[in-house]
Amino acid sequence: MPTRNLTSRISGFHRMTTEERLEAVAAFSDLDESAVGTLRRPGNIDPHLADHMIENVVATLSIPIGVATNMKVDGRDVLVPMATEESSVVAAVCNSARQCYDSGGFITSVSGNLMIAQVQLVGVPDPEQARMMILERREEIAAICDSCDPMLLRLGGGFRDLEVRVLASRGGPMVITHLIVDTRDAMGANTVNTMAETLAPSIEEWTGGKVFLRILSNLADRRLARARAVWPVAAIGGEAVRDGMIAAYHFAEADPYRAATHNKGIMNGVSAVVLATGNDTRAVEAGAHAYAARNGRYSSLTSFEVTADGSLAGMLEMPLPVGLVGGATKVHPTAQACLKILGVSTAAELARIIAAVGLAQNFGALKALATVGIQQGHMALHAHNVAIAVGATGAEVEQLANILVARRRVRQDVAAEELAKLRGG
Ligand code: NAD
Repeated sequence: MPTRNLTSRISGFHRMTTEERLEAVAAFSDLDESAVGTLRRPGNIDPHLADHMIENVVATLSIPIGVATNMKVDGRDVLVPMATEESSVVAAVCNSARQCYDSGGFITSVSGNLMIAQVQLVGVPDPEQARMMILERREEIAAICDSCDPMLLRLGGGFRDLEVRVLASRGGPMVITHLIVDTRDAMGANTVNTMAETLAPSIEEWTGGKVFLRILSNLADRRLARARAVWPVAAIGGEAVRDGMIAAYHFAEADPYRAATHNKGIMNGVSAVVLATGNDTRAVEAGAHAYAARNGRYSSLTSFEVTADGSLAGMLEMPLPVGLVGGATKVHPTAQACLKILGVSTAAELARIIAAVGLAQNFGALKALATVGIQQGHMALHAHNVAIAVGATGAEVEQLANILVARRRVRQDVAAEELAKLRGG
């Protein structure tokens, strides 16, 4: 066997072409032709564009985009593209939306497009005075922030408010300034980061302290999106199902172990639309989980109650800092196509639809949990993946998946055995 050069210190890697990098990786990891061929195959993104989006690009990864049907949001029918590798996610949204379509679909709202940037000031002997000194400069601070982004200003965005807190920390008191900025149709991370960095020297000058961090907070609790829907009891299969779903919600509300899974289900839907539209999934996820813990204990992002006529009402409220410009939203052609499918013209509209999807997803999961269990539907879809994983192709995939579901054994070893039988082995 030839010896390979196993050093990760590959000189000039970032200056190589994508192909050269791929060759270097293939040599390092001993990739065979088939793996290299897969990595070389472009998806629906130009390799040159990919090379400009991030560093050290060697390939792109294609994720299926499914379209959720039956969605009615604020009286408008919408088709929702969802990028996800997980089976059942799209089907759950379609089913949940179907069950509230006739009762009006989803009603949504937003709190605004406000993002928060934090400036951390340390080393001030009199932090309470420093706090006051910063608050006294509100007009100056507004002018400094607004000077950073004239385009945003022209679009009606810019500085909106100022908050300053003295934070007790292990290293002593810190003075934390929050810049509250309307970033319009951008997620706004770069925008507010620039403002915080530009302002920092002035804060040091006014207070005599030292500024360290200057960056947005992903706890975007000034950029909330909300969705609600009512599912008539007849549409969801009766009072027992409804009550089981309420009990499931109560469980999530009371227990962080359950809430983490409950909210993960919400994010199955939310992250899929965030990704399909080229937005920052990590930013939305960090904000969602931080918001879920805002009262000191991690809890459910949704709530459910029984209405006066016995229907099930569901509500979701969470930070949804997404944009139509900035990041990959404008540069990724697939993201642009997905935004076109959604037919949205503002970031707020996008956030509202995403909130509706998150609620639909949660309804679907709770209903499955309260009735047949999550595995029945999930495994039926997952069986296709298992079939492909053991080498089924073409019509075999469906055939083998059906056999696995019928046998209630959606496992790779069983799949391999059944595939051999199918092939007359
Ligand atoms: P951006 O800087 O690419 O675009 C925003 C700019 O677009 C604005 O400054 C404005 O001048 C212009 N613009 C044009 N039309 C606009 C409109 N209709 N509304 C608003 N602005 C308009 O992007 P961004 O949104 O500031 O930053 C998003 C990116 O920052 C994402 O890629 C994210 O991943 C990344 N990021 C995230 C974090 C974090 O979440 N912690 C930190 C740093 C960077």
